Amino acid sequence: MSTVTAPFTSVYGPVQSWRFGRSLGIDPIGPMSACSFNCVYCQLGRIEHQSSNRQFFISTKKIHQDLQLFPLGNVDAITLSGSGEPTLAQNLGEILTVVKEMTAKPVGVLTNGSLLSDPVVREELAIADWVAVKVDATSGDLFRRINHPVPAINLQEIWAGLLQFRQIYTGHLAVQTMLLAVWSEREQEEYIRQMQTLQPDEIQLNTPTRPRPLTHELEARGNNLPQACSYPAKQLKQVTTEVLKTFSDRITRVTEIPVRYPLLQHSS
Ligand code: SF4
Repeated sequence: MSTVTAPFTSVYGPVQSWRFGRSLGIDPIGPMSACSFNCVYCQLGRIEHQSSNRQFFISTKKIHQDLQLFPLGNVDAITLSGSGEPTLAQNLGEILTVVKEMTAKPVGVLTNGSLLSDPVVREELAIADWVAVKVDATSGDLFRRINHPVPAINLQEIWAGLLQFRQIYTGHLAVQTMLLAVWSEREQEEYIRQMQTLQPDEIQLNTPTRPRPLTHELEARGNNLPQACSYPAKQLKQVTTEVLKTFSDRITRVTEIPVRYPLLQHSS
């Protein structure tokens, strides 16, 4: 259990992101981390409440009040993410509607996609201007090793839900993929085949650039680059920029889908 020393605010940042520019974060989950996954690289540390059940965490009214306090002039995007999986918030659709009414900035959601088999979740997510969905594995084995999902979730259902979401969604759909090691030829081929089927608007290849806190820290919702990290954390394995570039070039050559990846300062 983490110790909360300051009053919880559901809005934080802006966070400088290589993917989204200056992004103001909205946390619909709250001081305790909650997610259907427990990824080995999660910047929140070990997830405190692991579940795939939707519930009300933070009221839409609280988010509205907190957002009113932030000047939005120097912000490029607003991102629902925070202390876990945003689609677990039962008021996700309401939050997206209210936030979009408050600003003309693009409003997006970072999701692990685990609830996309639920048509209500798909409809709510479709309110967002952009959605970035995590796809870290092409096989159930790698999925379980990297993402540590709750037992009720399986990769086939996520994939089916993602394809259905692609059919109804008119906003910008990005796929986010975290590489902790170089994928085998078979894994790369399968991933490219899946992306050809899905046809996302873009792919974001990533590798851990942030340390993993040993315990949950609210500060980790923000820009906790290693040099700024003020709590015990574990540095994670990375692939090099060259690995990201090689895979990126291959994906684009075959699928023509744009791929972005970070330029790492310290490739190892
Ligand atoms: S899906 Fe996101 S919030 Fe959930 S454990 Fe993985 S990295 Fe953390």
